[in-house]
Amino acid sequence: MEKDKKIIIAGPCAIESKKQFFSIAKEINSNIDFLRCGVWKARTNPYSFSGIGLKALDWVQEIQNKYNIQCAIEVGTTEHVQLALKHKIKTMWLGARTTCNPFIVEQISNCLKNKEVEIWIKNPIFADMKLWFGAIERFKNKGISNIKVIHRGFFSEIKEKYRNPPRWDLLVEFKKKYPKIPLICDPSHISGNKSLIKEVTNQALKLNVSGFMVEVHENPENALSDSMQQLDLIEFKKFLSDLK
Ligand code: PEP
Ligand code: MN
Repeated sequence: MEKDKKIIIAGPCAIESKKQFFSIAKEINSNIDFLRCGVWKARTNPYSFSGIGLKALDWVQEIQNKYNIQCAIEVGTTEHVQLALKHKIKTMWLGARTTCNPFIVEQISNCLKNKEVEIWIKNPIFADMKLWFGAIERFKNKGISNIKVIHRGFFSEIKEKYRNPPRWDLLVEFKKKYPKIPLICDPSHISGNKSLIKEVTNQALKLNVSGFMVEVHENPENALSDSMQQLDLIEFKKFLSDLK
């Protein structure tokens, strides 16, 4: 791998239908390292679209085989983990809300004990680094060494331009403590709006992050979640070429 080559994780915020998912996978699989697949969505509002759930796992498995690509899903419960394993999904991430809950992190890490999986841990929703470190330690203690972390910004009560303002200073702290864990930036959830993705990406590049997780949708205006922040295919191509 080229020294400066960034890890690219991309895909829709959520799988919305078989057609939508197969189409986006076909379009982007050859340009990315991991396909992000939202199967269960942890929505703040219980009346919002919360993902297709179980049925979508068959589609994820099919796409993994079809393109020989690693698909990654968010898991929030031990049931999610067991279903993912059953469908041969070996890359899973903890969302920002899950990282905040030591009980659930403990349960999920136990469920994955000594399994050959890769786990990504998003920063907790608020800037308590100890929660992030604690989650990492819980997985390490269970024999899982294939860990990446994702910076998706932190909740702020003050309304400002970013949906979840980044804290680059805390990432410097993070790198000191865990210099070997790859740090991925999620400019989509930091920005909340695609017009800001480029500037957030440039800030992250200055910190020499290992890669990016980006939301891509063929028709973002009509996406069932996070429609403002998802790049369309042309914008995603541009994002990739700008990185080079
Ligand atoms: C996501 O990546 O789909 C997501 C919900 O993000 P976060 O956990 O960062 O809010
Ligand atoms: Mn999203």
